[in-house]
Amino acid sequence: MPVYSHSRLSSYEKCPLQYRFRYLDRIKRDVQSIEAFMGKRVHEALEKLYRDLMMSRRASLDELLALYQRRWRENWSEKITIVKTEYTADHYRQVGERCLVGYYRRYEPFDDGQTLGLEDRIELSLDPAGRYQLQGYIDRLARAGNGVYEIHDYKTGGSSLPSDADLRKDRQLTLYQMAVEKRFPDARDIRLVWHYLAFDQRLTSARTPEEVERHRRQTIGLIDTIEETKTFPPKESALCRWCEYRGICPVQKHLVKVEALEPNQYLNDDGVRLVDRLAELLSRRGSVEKEIARVEEAILAYSEREKASVLRGTGHTARVQPGPPGDRRIALALHKPEQIGLFD
Ligand code: SF4
Repeated sequence: MPVYSHSRLSSYEKCPLQYRFRYLDRIKRDVQSIEAFMGKRVHEALEKLYRDLMMSRRASLDELLALYQRRWRENWSEKITIVKTEYTADHYRQVGERCLVGYYRRYEPFDDGQTLGLEDRIELSLDPAGRYQLQGYIDRLARAGNGVYEIHDYKTGGSSLPSDADLRKDRQLTLYQMAVEKRFPDARDIRLVWHYLAFDQRLTSARTPEEVERHRRQTIGLIDTIEETKTFPPKESALCRWCEYRGICPVQKHLVKVEALEPNQYLNDDGVRLVDRLAELLSRRGSVEKEIARVEEAILAYSEREKASVLRGTGHTARVQPGPPGDRRIALALHKPEQIGLFD
């Protein structure tokens, strides 16, 4: 069984097909969203801040911002995608900058505990036999007092702040808590801390032993589900716009193809034309059906009046099926070969 991570589990929950592309087929796509790019630059700057502090040096805000700008420039490439096209790259760069300024001003002189690890790798077994293995990276692990540990996580995105109930459901930091409990047997109080940097907000939560146990069982259950899965269907959502596999995903690839076309080429695409034609026909179906009902009524009335149960048109024959009035049906068929030419 592979070593799982929170990202790997989330990928399956978001879309099984994305999971298959990324973790089973291992298809590499050379693109990155600007949100992820900006988040990485902010994380780098905060890591530098605390690495220096561990060496008794406090980087100035200007220094951090200069580092952020330099890394932005050095790592920028055409492979970075902007989905929300109403915003520019510069807009995102400024948001990241604002995250750093807000954090620096709020926490200076950064004496809220002793940093124990940065981008700290954790490994964890969810069961005594070591079958269910997990790994992850803690943005910052700190000791805030005797037996008091804090797991810090930086968030640079999000359109709204999570509620307390949302935080309690958070699996990622709960898994990290399990790893910290194992690594530090003196841990009696573990605080989970999220820094929603774009909102300049610090949110905290803690887990009861029962909640930790519930998360452990749920995570094992999810891993079992993934391991037993044979089909990985696409699960469309708003997140598809950020998915690096849109170009090969059956539910998104045609959209990707036509998005890239100029308006005049767009209408020449066979798929576009077929869908438009079907939509047009379906939009006419309602009025055609009403017309059919009217003509059938007229045929039944004619048949009744003329005492003729089979009526002939130029190419077809209408046969009125016997039945109680009001429930008679008309079967329409092409003329038999010997009748062809009857009206020529
Ligand atoms: S584009 Fe959407 S449906 Fe397709 S693989 Fe990605 S997330 Fe899944």
